[in-house]
Amino acid sequence: HAKQEGRGRYSFFAARMNEAADQRLAVGSALQRAIQEGEFVLYYQPKISAVDGELRGFEALIRWPQPDGEWMSPGTFIPIAEETGRIEPIGKWALHEAARQIKQWIEAGATCCPIAVNVSARQFHQASLMRDIQTALQRTGIPPGLLEAELTESAVMADPAKTIQALHQIRDLGVSISVDDFGTGYSSLAYLKRFPLDKLKVDAAFVRDIATDPDDAAIVSAIITLAHSLNLTVIAEGVETADQMAFLIEHGCDEMQGHYFSKPVPSEEALEMLKRGRFNLH
Ligand code: C2E
Ligand code: MG
Ligand code: MG
Ligand code: MG
Repeated sequence: HAKQEGRGRYSFFAARMNEAADQRLAVGSALQRAIQEGEFVLYYQPKISAVDGELRGFEALIRWPQPDGEWMSPGTFIPIAEETGRIEPIGKWALHEAARQIKQWIEAGATCCPIAVNVSARQFHQASLMRDIQTALQRTGIPPGLLEAELTESAVMADPAKTIQALHQIRDLGVSISVDDFGTGYSSLAYLKRFPLDKLKVDAAFVRDIATDPDDAAIVSAIITLAHSLNLTVIAEGVETADQMAFLIEHGCDEMQGHYFSKPVPSEEALEMLKRGRFNLH
């Protein structure tokens, strides 16, 4: 009897696994088409100075429109792109598109801010990344300081010896580096000190309850202190309320990003933000 039950359960899980595998397969081949047909779009979310509300830069977030008019979340398709070997062309596209956008804004006469491009773990450990950054810079001729790379804490800490070299190569091109989702992985403080980094991004999970949960408040203020003692800029992600903003300003966080200020927007709206140059903190 136990054996039968076990077998029943096995086939239940097998069916579920097949479903997940089918989804991966379908999304994987749709991604192939999306790359060829140029279906991706970049949206831009502003990063704001916690001192005076000045616009400090944008994060480029990839958007993939579906035939039904919805977006498929990058949280869903980026991991599949990594597993199916399609992250390289997508990452390359995002770098080129961000560089092209910077060039266009400069040509439009806007005082440009840096655009940060997300680089996934798998992409970070491929040799093609350096080449892709280099050609994006060369083809557009933009100042390299206007391009940033966002790498997750887990990608950076996965293989510290290799990472340090790769980070120096990116830095040598003049591109600055942020550690994304900081606090969700495991950082070696020794490496954090040795890595050539510019910015820590406090993960939204810690920001959510800072105004009400003393533990989260303590974690966020500790990260701010840590970042400053390592001479890094610190930015909080996922800021949604005035109370969260007030806490961050009071505790000396340098920059903020989140729906409280703006959702990620299409490039035309981002250009309007560039022209205004400032957000109201009150
Ligand atoms: P991430 O880099 O940590 O980006 C932050 C995510 O939080 C984005 O989701 C953003 O739209 C969302 N967000 C921003 N402010 C708020 C807020 O106030 N409240 C809430 N609830 N959410 C907020 P999105 O655009 O769905 O991207 C999810 C993840 O997908 C990103 O996390 C990043 O890891 C990845 N991703 C996005 N674009 C790219 C890309 O071009 N390349 C790669 N490799 N990964 C990307
Ligand atoms: Mg990011
Ligand atoms: Mg993040
Ligand atoms: Mg995140």
